[in-house]
Amino acid sequence: MAPEKRMARLREAGVTPTMQRLAILEYLESTKTHPTADEVYAAVHKTCPTIARATVYNTLEALTASGTILKLALDPAAARYDADLGPHVHFRCRLCGRVYDLAIETAQCLSEKAEGHEIEAVRTYAFGVCASCRDGDPKGGARQRGAKKSSPRPSASPRARRPAHA
Ligand SMILES: [Zn+2]
Ligand SMILES: [Zn+2]
Repeated sequence: MAPEKRMARLREAGVTPTMQRLAILEYLESTKTHPTADEVYAAVHKTCPTIARATVYNTLEALTASGTILKLALDPAAARYDADLGPHVHFRCRLCGRVYDLAIETAQCLSEKAEGHEIEAVRTYAFGVCASCRDGDPKGGARQRGAKKSSPRPSASPRARRPAHA
């Protein structure tokens, strides 16, 4: 997103655009990991070392309250945040804790059962075991774009894919 647009988004949220707050929104727009407030702080702190933890928390709250970002309540340990407002389902793996986006429309069948209410958004959370964990690699994440590569480790899993000795 263009910086001017990001500034407008902050103003609409009632947040005065500062470099630090812009960095928070930019980071959220750039990631698919649905970070917690602490993860947002850790990431933004790298480029804005003077940012206060309270600034991150307050900015996330203001952006959530104004509908600029989504606050996800699917992780019992901490709220997670998402700048993607398009219709999609969130899937949380109970083994590795990662949150994935699923491109599923959920609202279609609801619109005719709304009993006169006007549905503007439907949020669905799905839970289970992700594809990486099903493959026996809970620390992997090769299937999730942008995930950090884990260091190789000795694996007891007979299903671990390792090249055979030449
Ligand atoms: Zn998993
Ligand atoms: Zn999402």
